[in-house]
Amino acid sequence: MRALRLAIVGAGPAGLYTADALRFQDRLDFSVDLFDRLPTPFGLLRYGVAPDHLKMKSLTVTLQKVLDDPRVRFFGNVTCGRDVTIAELRSHYDGVVYAYGAAADRQLEIPGEGLVGSLSATELVAWYSGHPESVEPPCRLDETGAAVIGMGNVAVDVARILTKPLAELRSTDMPQDVLSVLAGSALADVYMLGRRGPIDAKFTYKELRELGELDGVDVIVRKDELTLSASDAVAIANDPSLERRMKLLREWSLRRPTGAPRRLHLRFGVRPVEILGNGRVGGLVVERCLALADMKMGHVGAREELAVGAVFRAVGYRGMSVTGVPFDIGTGTIPTDGSARVLRNGAVSPGEYAAGWIRRGPTGVLGTNRADGQLVADSLLLDAKELLDLRTHSTDVMDLLESREVTIVTCDGWTAVDRAEIELGLEQGRARAKIVEHNKLLAVSRARSMGNAVGP
Ligand SMILES: Cc1cc2nc3c(=O)[nH]c(=O)nc-3n(C[C@H](O)[C@H](O)[C@H](O)COP(=O)(O)OP(=O)(O)OC[C@H]3O[C@@H](n4cnc5c(N)ncnc54)[C@H](O)[C@@H]3O)c2cc1C
Repeated sequence: MRALRLAIVGAGPAGLYTADALRFQDRLDFSVDLFDRLPTPFGLLRYGVAPDHLKMKSLTVTLQKVLDDPRVRFFGNVTCGRDVTIAELRSHYDGVVYAYGAAADRQLEIPGEGLVGSLSATELVAWYSGHPESVEPPCRLDETGAAVIGMGNVAVDVARILTKPLAELRSTDMPQDVLSVLAGSALADVYMLGRRGPIDAKFTYKELRELGELDGVDVIVRKDELTLSASDAVAIANDPSLERRMKLLREWSLRRPTGAPRRLHLRFGVRPVEILGNGRVGGLVVERCLALADMKMGHVGAREELAVGAVFRAVGYRGMSVTGVPFDIGTGTIPTDGSARVLRNGAVSPGEYAAGWIRRGPTGVLGTNRADGQLVADSLLLDAKELLDLRTHSTDVMDLLESREVTIVTCDGWTAVDRAEIELGLEQGRARAKIVEHNKLLAVSRARSMGNAVGP
């Protein structure tokens, strides 16, 4: 029996974990081509996970092993649905796995959202992570106030990066230009705003606790915003992690500010209602959230204006459709059965699978994608015989892409970029410094993988 030929669309954690699970299916002979629209692998692990979370970032070392496997080819800088259609992929491969993530952000839907300085956390994260599509700073940090809307781990990441002393960021892989902008930041007050109470916040205890350990930052919590309802008390009684969270927040609410240069205000039970400004953000109106009964009576919560020059919304992510792939607009995901097989018009479509955020929605931690990858590999093992019977193949997709003059970054190309980033980092006294510009990534991947020494 010939080897099963597979394509994975998206070389983020879900795509790589899927390929990894295949590597350990002893009874499956396969080859896999991993496509990514970016010249580099790792998806949000490279361009989302906070640069100062070095332990989490080091997962790239494990996932790199997948790319080093001779059965795996990397096709970086190839956008599926544009450079190669989904129909073409389906005709070239026995199976196609969609693992292209869900990186579109959600809107607040309030007046003033279009002002300069009002942006998604995604845009800020992309910039400080050195994403090739985010070379320029997406906003100025020349005002003393900024608001981060949301109470999840992404909001916490953004608040931490904006307030953390620069000395502690210098050892990360952040691009030099980003460090320079952060060095000139005027920020003194960062407000993290959550619509609901502290029990409903989505952040984890570990991420929250880190905020209280930042040098040069006073964390400010208002006692009156920690009031609990009867149902909150029940939730705490059943969940020790919520009890620890409340203990920490109460402790912070009793702290007296030390006069540190920066203040991080954690605000609960307030919602943004309008971003003020003339052309660019000049303030944010927030409203105290009321109980449903009060709202039904037509009451309006007390309003307050925060002096901020930037508003970052971190209120969730959404998947986007790719032409040729079934998509559920309501959930922003690809419809699948319980075993990661893609459904077309409600029926399993042979040879199509989905994994990661585009299958489940933007939830869970990096490791959750591992279970997803395993699910796909298990289904592929069951389906392999049927898939091999379905198709015959003659051409390599590489020929098709080359005929279209698509510049492909291969595994060797990525290795060259990896090496160049490590060298650049060493020159700057750190383990790695990211190369940002798309054309530089391509130039380094091409020249260095051919043995020429081209500096980043
Ligand atoms: C800001 C942020 C911080 C996070 N921090 C943490 C953390 O500290 N710890 C943790 O456990 N989790 C964290 N997460 C969650 C974690 O990043 C996700 O669980 C994980 O990245 C999802 O993996 P994925 O492969 O489904 O999607 P992605 O990581 O988004 O990967 C999808 C890949 O598909 C590619 N792609 C998209 N469209 C196409 C196309 N048409 N053709 C080809 N390729 C395409 C993309 O370029 C990308 O490389 C964070 C998420 C965010 C947004």
